[in-house]
Amino acid sequence: MQPDLSAMQADLRTLVELESPSTDLAAIARVMDVVEGWARELGADTHALPSGTREMNFGVQEGQKYILVLTHADTVWPHGTLEHMPLRVEGDKLYGPGTYDMKAGIVGLIHALRALGGEWPAGGIKVLLSPDEEIGSGSSRGHIEQAAQMARAVLVVEPPVADSHNLKTGRKGTGNFTLKFTGIASHAGNKPSEGASAITAAAEAVLALQALADHAKGTTVSVGQIAGGSAVNVIPAECTLEIDLRVATLSEGERVTEAVNVWKPSDSRVKVEVLGGLNRPPFEQGAATMQLFGQAQAIAKALGFEVGHEVVGGGSDGNFTAPIAPTLDGLGAPGDGAHAAHEHVRLDRWGDHVRLLHRLIQEV
Ligand SMILES: [Zn+2]
Repeated sequence: MQPDLSAMQADLRTLVELESPSTDLAAIARVMDVVEGWARELGADTHALPSGTREMNFGVQEGQKYILVLTHADTVWPHGTLEHMPLRVEGDKLYGPGTYDMKAGIVGLIHALRALGGEWPAGGIKVLLSPDEEIGSGSSRGHIEQAAQMARAVLVVEPPVADSHNLKTGRKGTGNFTLKFTGIASHAGNKPSEGASAITAAAEAVLALQALADHAKGTTVSVGQIAGGSAVNVIPAECTLEIDLRVATLSEGERVTEAVNVWKPSDSRVKVEVLGGLNRPPFEQGAATMQLFGQAQAIAKALGFEVGHEVVGGGSDGNFTAPIAPTLDGLGAPGDGAHAAHEHVRLDRWGDHVRLLHRLIQEV
């Protein structure tokens, strides 16, 4: 396959110019319509699934195991981002919101599929395009897990690791907790003892719960947001904490979830409500994934470049499929700056990774 880099760039511009924050389903649908149109031109049979996920089948045959490819159309960027982060090429880099994560992955996939010339691998290829990966995949998770049941391999076209361009053979599991503290308001000067401070309780929680981290086991716990109090002279009756959790193993996820749920502040008058939990289970690196990686590595070598692999902290929809079917992640476009102002794709390396994806789909 000889990727047409200028056509790929043009297609990427088309998708990026349609801003698609996770919160705007209509905007996301406009991106999906374009991708679905491309897929139909290649002969795909496409469907809209409930709550916004699209399914595109390329030669999928009833009762036969297929290759499942996971993509998402949403980005973390709000409307208007293009005004201060315009699409632009500087040297070998194409900058813009949602380029690297992961509109270039979608474009590369479409070009890889086109290069197959209608000769689909045994069992065909099923592509899922989800609307809510960046906010935890609440509506698409069920579709993804169901599709994985009949997959002989799952390829995730999220970007490879920044700088190294390594593929992703494992990901931490991710969780979020919201803790709502309800104390008793009182005059801070006249009757402090009648109050029960929600902020004091929350402060205890910050230290106690972050101490649940276990770096040797890859467990991180971080309070990323805190809000509370009503006025400086009032003992605060309310406070809220937001906690980010990352774990390498399911047992660590269970340990921390249990500990967060049973934790109590020293002032028993302050009530704590805990919401949330482990959202994506860990994508634990397994033999099936490493076998897929081995194939990818051999293909890269044959194509004249080296590719490595890594376990990363961030989650993806691959976390849902890894316990069900052999999953390899990071097969999208090389670059850097996911969720950051310098988000970009590496034009000098993009073509190689599309050729890799094309051959992997043929050979897997
Ligand atoms: Zn992504």
